[in-house]
Amino acid sequence: MNNKGILVILSGFAGSGKGTIIRELLQKYDNYALSVSATTRAPREGEEEGVHYFFKTREEFKEMISRGELLEYAEYVGNFYGTPRAYVKEQLSKGKNVILEIETEGALSIKREYPDAVLIFVMPPSVEEIYNRLKHRGTESEEVIAKRMKKAGFEISVVDRYDFLMINDVLSESVEMFNAIVSGQQMAVSRNRDYINEKKREFEEFLAGQKEN
Ligand code: 5GP
Repeated sequence: MNNKGILVILSGFAGSGKGTIIRELLQKYDNYALSVSATTRAPREGEEEGVHYFFKTREEFKEMISRGELLEYAEYVGNFYGTPRAYVKEQLSKGKNVILEIETEGALSIKREYPDAVLIFVMPPSVEEIYNRLKHRGTESEEVIAKRMKKAGFEISVVDRYDFLMINDVLSESVEMFNAIVSGQQMAVSRNRDYINEKKREFEEFLAGQKEN
């Protein structure tokens, strides 16, 4: 079977719980790698350089763009965010499924360039829940929360261009759903053309051998 990794993009409103799903998934399964993005946003309390993000100045970020180091990038609520290209390529070639936790604009630009990428959108069970989760996280001001809610209102309009939708209600179920979607993709005929061709050749050889006997 195909042993090349799958590029999986997970998007969701701020407060959708996507970060927690990924954390649990990485603990449970070892065939996934999470891409760490570059951002011009200031670190939140507890965030570490190279773990949560590579924190960059606007100038450094622009240099990364001009050197072609980013697979995609986008502006989100006043800051830039982008995916470093090298890590993604390296992990995919090692057979890992690479997860990008990115917003919708970047996700859709990746899908245009890499139609094989799988786009998953995660939503909390209700709109009130989004607001409550953001508020309880306590890391953003009321003003930033309002901007993020507005952004969520826009993002819902592009969900129909995604491949899969997940409602994140029970965390353990969401983790299994995510893994089921990706495992299912690994069995897609379109991802296994080389394997199928190899089996066709084996059949031809076998049948040719039978004729000779
Ligand atoms: P936060 O500031 O809450 O960490 O992230 C804000 C938004 O930026 C989230 O929707 C997150 O998924 C998205 N994001 C994080 N990294 C990237 C990236 O590399 N590219 C893009 N396009 N979006 C990103």
